[in-house]
Amino acid sequence: MRIAVTGGKGGTGKSLVATSLAAELSKNNKVLLVDADVECPNDHLVLSIKRRELRKVVQFKPEFNYDKCVKCGACSRACKEKAILFVKHDFPKFVPEQCIGCGACLAACPSRAITKGKNKIGMIYSGEKSNLSFLSGETIEGVEETSPVVNTLKKEIKDGFDYEIIDTAAGAHCSVISALIGSDLALVVTEPTPFGSHDAALMLELLGKLGIPSVIVLNKSTIGEKGLIKGLGSEVIAEIPYDKKILEAYAAGRVVKHKAFDKIIKYLEDL
Ligand code: SF4
Ligand code: SF4
Repeated sequence: MRIAVTGGKGGTGKSLVATSLAAELSKNNKVLLVDADVECPNDHLVLSIKRRELRKVVQFKPEFNYDKCVKCGACSRACKEKAILFVKHDFPKFVPEQCIGCGACLAACPSRAITKGKNKIGMIYSGEKSNLSFLSGETIEGVEETSPVVNTLKKEIKDGFDYEIIDTAAGAHCSVISALIGSDLALVVTEPTPFGSHDAALMLELLGKLGIPSVIVLNKSTIGEKGLIKGLGSEVIAEIPYDKKILEAYAAGRVVKHKAFDKIIKYLEDL
């Protein structure tokens, strides 16, 4: 069963839930934890897993052969990312930071003046701890489009696990959607605050559109207004209280133990 751990905004406790759940589940099951928060992966730090490099993530990068270039500007017009600057009667200028590797410029060039180069945009790592297997993706700083790293990461998921837990990035952008696709269930981690409620509502709507069943895990449940979350109409399967000991354990990189995780496991086992 593939379970996504997600949440609209950052700092709701997604990684806390993903790492603690993975650690608890792996005591009696074969579990793979996938850290798909590729801009800021930190699950390996929480679980003290030493990561090994598995593969590079590369994407297409145009390389220009000015001997063949006829200065027509078609590549610049085809590039929606404004990664190719063109001034009449001059050669095109490439701005690599803007390029997302879509290949539109390659297709648009009438004189084969563009060839296929490669740009490293991230790394995929693996690791393990006792019965828990681990995968993690990390984007190189400055890379705008992170979905290719998430997609490459997901291709490394092999069969044979009782549970695959996907820890997504915060928000509802393209790389989060890439991480969510294929999940059997999503745990939406949120807090009982107006921001938490607003972002959880957006995430629940997105999950509905993707056809992924979802339930809520309410973090810091003892502060704020629980009614804000109950009004969202999605089942709250577990509540994690605001507790200094939990925060201290997480900040110190220790797996958090709490009866809320037993409740989540019971819910999963009953499905
Ligand atoms: S690959 Fe796409 S984004 Fe990059 S320069 Fe070409 S058209 Fe622009
Ligand atoms: S489309 Fe090709 S020929 Fe035209 S400006 Fe770009 S690189 Fe040069």
